[in-house]
Amino acid sequence: MHTPSDAPEACPVCGVAYFSVSRHGADEEGLLINLRENERFARVCVDAIEGGGVDFYHHDHKQV
Ligand SMILES: [Zn+2]
Repeated sequence: MHTPSDAPEACPVCGVAYFSVSRHGADEEGLLINLRENERFARVCVDAIEGGGVDFYHHDHKQV
């Protein structure tokens, strides 16, 4: 997992500003998404990227 250098200004899924983005490659075996309510993030949007893999856009409670 790493943060891509070509990340857009706003989330490409919902169009809202985001707190952070993390990229997960197609070569990863799997990943864990924690669905418990948490104090930091309200929502995570998932955007598929060319060539495989996904970007996760993390929104905090003030943004969504
Ligand atoms: Zn979003």
